[in-house]
Amino acid sequence: MNVNHDVFMNMEPIPATPNYKYLGAWANNEKLVGLNDAFNLVKADCDLILNSDLTPMQKLHAVRTHVLPKLYHLIQNTSPLQSHLKKINAYMRKVVKIICFLPEKATSSYCHLSRIHGGPGIPDVVWLRRTNIITSLIACMNQEPEFTEIAREILGVENLHAIVDKINSGERAGLHPVLKEVSSALKAFSSENEAEYQLKANDRNHLILTKDGKFIPFYSTHLKAVSNMLPLRQLLKCKNQGRFFETLQHSPAATRSIYNFHTKMCDWRFAHKARLNLSPLKGSITWTDQINKNCRRCQLGDETLNHVLNSCPAQKKEIVGRHNKVRDHIEKWIPDHVTFFSEQRFGDCQPDFVIETDTQYIIADVKISNENPSLWNRIHSNNATKYEKLKNYFANRGKPTSVETLQFGCLGSASMSCAKTLKKIMQSQRKTNATLRAISNILVHQARNQTVTHLTGKHQNE
Ligand SMILES: [Zn+2]
Repeated sequence: MNVNHDVFMNMEPIPATPNYKYLGAWANNEKLVGLNDAFNLVKADCDLILNSDLTPMQKLHAVRTHVLPKLYHLIQNTSPLQSHLKKINAYMRKVVKIICFLPEKATSSYCHLSRIHGGPGIPDVVWLRRTNIITSLIACMNQEPEFTEIAREILGVENLHAIVDKINSGERAGLHPVLKEVSSALKAFSSENEAEYQLKANDRNHLILTKDGKFIPFYSTHLKAVSNMLPLRQLLKCKNQGRFFETLQHSPAATRSIYNFHTKMCDWRFAHKARLNLSPLKGSITWTDQINKNCRRCQLGDETLNHVLNSCPAQKKEIVGRHNKVRDHIEKWIPDHVTFFSEQRFGDCQPDFVIETDTQYIIADVKISNENPSLWNRIHSNNATKYEKLKNYFANRGKPTSVETLQFGCLGSASMSCAKTLKKIMQSQRKTNATLRAISNILVHQARNQTVTHLTGKHQNE
C-alpha cells in the first residue's frame, strides 16, 4: 500500500491495494482516517465488554487480546498525532479503572503496568508508537538492497551519515515526518531512561542503535523492555500509591495472584485498591494530618493496611489462622515420596517443616508479613540464627541441610527465594506455580476478609 512503485514478486508486479480491512476496521493510507475509525470501533467494543456478564478478569483479557489489536496495526502503519494517541490512552485508562474498580484518583501508571510487574498490562500507546517507529526505521534501512533503496527514496535519505547526525542532534527542519518522529522518540527514550540513545550508521551503511555509545544488538527487545519498565518506575516514584510494588516487581506470584480466572469477585474489588493504598482506612488518608488516624479497634497505632493485616491485636486470631491455612496448603501438596515433619518439636525449636528430599534436608518456616524486601531479609536472617543448632544436627546425618523461609506478602506476593525453595520441595515447576497461585489466592482473600472484619466488626466467613 505504501510503496507505489513497480515492485515485482515472481516476475509479476504486486498490485496496489487502495483500501483494505484489518481486524474489521478499514485501513487506508490517508492520515488518521483508519485510526479514527478503528478507535470508534474499539470504543463500541469496550462498551459491549463493560456491559457484558463476563468476570472482571475476562473483561480485561478481552480488551487486551481482542480489542486493542485493532489499534496496534494502525498505530504502527499510519501517522497518528500525539494528541490522538493521548486520547486513546485516556480512554483506555478509564476502561481499566472501571474494570479494576479503581477510583478516579488512582494513578494512571498502574493501568499501563505490564503483566510481568503484576499490573493489568494495557500498554501506553504513545510509548508503543515510539518503540515501533524506531524499530521499523532500523529494520527498513537494513533490508535487502533493493528494498532499502526504495525506503531511502521515500524518506529522502541520500547520505545516511548526514541524516543520522540530524536525527541525533534534534535538528528536525527539512526531514521527512517519519524521521522527525524518530528523532523525538529517541529524545523521549533518552530523557526517561537517563541514558543517551542514538542512531549510528556503520561501515556497511547499516543503521544501528546505540545506548551511551554502546551498540545494542537486540534493539527491538531492548526498547520494549524499557517502555515496559516506565510505568513501574513512575509508580514507584508515586509515594502514596506505589508502596507495594517494590516487592511485586521481583515476585513470581505477583502476576499470577490477582490476574487469575479463579479470583473471586470480592477479592478482585479489594486487591487493586489495596495495592495502591486506596482502601477506606484512616491511615490511608494522605492529604491531611489534621485527623486522628488511630486504629479504631486497638488505638495502638495508625490504622494502615499493614497494621490491620499484620499487627493489630484485634486481628490476632485471623493472623494465626492465615499462617495455618498457608502451612496446611503446602503440606497437602508435598509429593508422596518426600518425607516431612510438620510442626514437630526438636528440643526447644519447632519449625513449620522439616523436609527430607533425596538429596537434602530443608528446615522451612512459613512467614507472612508486609511486602517489604528489607523486612524479609531481616526475618530470614533471624530464622537462620534461630535454627542453627537444628541445622547442624541434620547436617551430621549426612545430607546437606539448609534453613529456608517461605516468605509471603500479605497481599499475595512471594519472595524469589520462597519460589526456589518451593520448587526444591515440590520437585516440579508446574506444581510450584500452582501452589504459589493458590496461596496468593488464599492470602488476598484473607486480606480482604480481615479488612472487612476490621471496618465492619462483623466476622467474615470464608
Ligand atoms: Zn489496631
